[in-house]
Amino acid sequence: MASKETVLSAAKQFVTFINKTPSPFHAVNEVRQRLVSNGFCELKEADHWTIKPLQKYFVTRNQSTIIAFAVGGKYQPGNGFSIVGAHTDSPCLKVKPISKITKAGYLMVGVECYGGGIWHTWFDRDLTVGGRVFVKTDIGIESRLVHVQRPILRIPNIAIHLMRDHNESFGPNKESHLCPVLATAVQVSLQGGAKADPPKPSETSTQTKSPLAPNYETLADKHNSPLVTIICDQLDIKPEQIIDFELYVADTQPSVIGGALEEFIFSPRLDNLLNAYAACEGLIQACGDESLQHDPNIRMISLFDNEEVGSQSAQGAQSALQEMVLHRLSSGGSQTAFQEAIPKSFMISADQAHAVHPNYSDKHESNHQVALHKGIVVKINSNQRYASTGITVTILREIANLSKVPLQEFVVKNDSPCGSTIGPILSAGLGIPTVDVGAPQLSMHSIREMACITSVYQATELYKGFFLNYPEVYASLQF
Ligand SMILES: [Zn+2]
Repeated sequence: MASKETVLSAAKQFVTFINKTPSPFHAVNEVRQRLVSNGFCELKEADHWTIKPLQKYFVTRNQSTIIAFAVGGKYQPGNGFSIVGAHTDSPCLKVKPISKITKAGYLMVGVECYGGGIWHTWFDRDLTVGGRVFVKTDIGIESRLVHVQRPILRIPNIAIHLMRDHNESFGPNKESHLCPVLATAVQVSLQGGAKADPPKPSETSTQTKSPLAPNYETLADKHNSPLVTIICDQLDIKPEQIIDFELYVADTQPSVIGGALEEFIFSPRLDNLLNAYAACEGLIQACGDESLQHDPNIRMISLFDNEEVGSQSAQGAQSALQEMVLHRLSSGGSQTAFQEAIPKSFMISADQAHAVHPNYSDKHESNHQVALHKGIVVKINSNQRYASTGITVTILREIANLSKVPLQEFVVKNDSPCGSTIGPILSAGLGIPTVDVGAPQLSMHSIREMACITSVYQATELYKGFFLNYPEVYASLQF
């Protein structure tokens, strides 16, 4: 057993990571920075790749999906891939393309629901935005990350005096009741409409209009000016430089270690940044020793966007990206090198799991009540909502044993719906043997979720142990 200090230290590093990642773009950027500082080189999809043994690489798509890999010293085309897959997105509210709304003297921001969030948890939170902004500069069009650190938005609850059945049947309408307040029209005019509401190009002469401002009028019309002003101040740009932006609404309350005994993580986006982070850490740590020299495989992490909305996008797990990367890495060998590599490969599909809820324990199958601290959860579903099979679970048990990480099994009740993951999508598309796992947590898809500190350490150890031991376990199979 690892000491409490070791476990707590791993959890604190994760908390620091998650506090910098209000959007998938930020998550990918943080992963990228960790990889770069550990010797990984960036590849571009559009370039020709020359892959060398013992070298480490990564490639991104849409700035929201990242695949990173380290080439084993004994790798040759046709050998296997040891893959840990996870996702970078979480349910959230996203600022609409035209977000400008004024209601009852309030300046509001129109938002779209992304994924299956528990939306009532977004009420009465101190909210902000994070995402990417496309900026026109002297050298061209740049994509810049933005994360406003102060609470600028709020979705207020309706007082119980005005809704007496609040506690019995609060069911907000996702279009009309979930709209964040940005400011009041009164305050905007008090602070001088000119600063808060920049003049439209039609009010200025065409001679003074910047040649860089083709969308200025459109953008100013699309969003309430205090929001545009804050974004511009953050990035030190002028409104006319903004071509477009993609902003995610996020909680400003930071992720923390919690509980009387400092054993929990109270945090947004545990599903699934916990596994994205642990996969990255596991890969980096596994490449820190000499074992890579003897590895016949390529060690890989694949962190996809858009899992929460079904994975069907250019940067999602349903895209051809995973296959294209594996094909490229199998080229240069025999004509069937790729096909030969598939059965030698293995994927751990890592996504969060449901710990037993003390107040709703009847929602959990009585023999499969997974608990915080008690290990990484193996997810099994005979209806193939999870990709685990007898063979892949057996291989995982061997790896968990070697990694000294305890496992617990989860199946959903027969009368309950079951979530799914990127596991069945990728294993069906590629034929790679896959096991679905995750760390136990509560409050999944709430704006503020809850897990245990042990999860981060155990997940990292398991994924590291998988990279170190999978080729040997595979070689020991007698069938
Ligand atoms: Zn998930």
